[in-house]
Amino acid sequence: LRLTRADLDALPSYVPGRSPADLARELGLPEAIKLASNEVPYGPLPGVVEAVAEAVAGSHRYPDMGVVALRQALAERYGVDADRIATGCGSVALAEHLVRATCLPGDELLYSWRSFEAYPIIAATSGATSVRVPNDAGHGHDLASMAAAVTDRTRMILVCNPNNPTGTAVRKAELDRFLDAVPDDVLVVIDEAYREFVTDPEVPDGLTYLDRPNVAVLRTLSKAWGLAGLRIGWMVAEPTVAAAVRKVVTPFSTSMAAQAGALAALAEADEVERRCALVVAERERVTEALRKSVPDVPSSQANFVWLPLGERAVDFGKACEARGVIVRPFPGDGVRVTIGTPAENDAFLAAAESALA
Ligand code: PMP
Repeated sequence: LRLTRADLDALPSYVPGRSPADLARELGLPEAIKLASNEVPYGPLPGVVEAVAEAVAGSHRYPDMGVVALRQALAERYGVDADRIATGCGSVALAEHLVRATCLPGDELLYSWRSFEAYPIIAATSGATSVRVPNDAGHGHDLASMAAAVTDRTRMILVCNPNNPTGTAVRKAELDRFLDAVPDDVLVVIDEAYREFVTDPEVPDGLTYLDRPNVAVLRTLSKAWGLAGLRIGWMVAEPTVAAAVRKVVTPFSTSMAAQAGALAALAEADEVERRCALVVAERERVTEALRKSVPDVPSSQANFVWLPLGERAVDFGKACEARGVIVRPFPGDGVRVTIGTPAENDAFLAAAESALA
């Protein structure tokens, strides 16, 4: 008996990072360290828990489907028009909505590979055809080859900047050239989940490209803003694109808790900046330390680093887990390691040193 689509059998599922509680139990340790999902290592921002508790006191009612207060707060903070903003259940949901809003079955969704694992899943489940352009030798986007791969079926291009899982980022001059080369009826989505960790002044803020109608920007409150568990992402696009996304979104998918938590988090921008600076300093320290044994670790602009270990990736991941540190191996390719607290990073570096010895 088959009740579901046959093409899903071959599609890999999205794999979340392993639970540290499970690993700790397995190893008989008081706790394990999770550096596998690009979360920030600090607790919720001040005011978030209270704001969420207060909001859910009214949770027998539906949330504001227009997400008016939050869209207004985002519009003010980032200097964009609220009409151009849509929110969703994480920016991953918005990426999916954008594909549904742009691609008919057989239309092409173009992206660099390796990049965020959700992209091929979104393409496959939406009926779009994935076109993957291999990363360049430095593990980053090869924008010239991506522009050359556009066909008359291409409807949407994802530019992951900084790129998950390699941490590389495209710079302004190459992005300008790319956007000039892409036909203006192809939507270019700049996925900036890690924008707050960017320190290279040559890496442009996607929001500065919004004068181009075919550019959309995805942002999330899951990473720097510490709200991964509340599931809230937002996007800015040309008003007709934003309106189309609001049509395809599952109704009420930005929950009351998400809206209240996001508003409270946005009031803590100074604390977020302080936390990001700590993560960035640790990112540089971890990168330098790793380069002693893996010289080709690329410079990261995100809150994680990439070890291009090829066939050694899975064994490295297992060796770290055996020492109580969960990282994210991509078989045959590399390992992504999220930056944690200084103590967590030290534990990882000790595990890495023995794994690489
Ligand atoms: N884009 C990129 C590049 C990501 O790495 C992630 C999270 N791993 C997301 C989007 C989605 O984040 P969220 O759905 O939590 O907003």
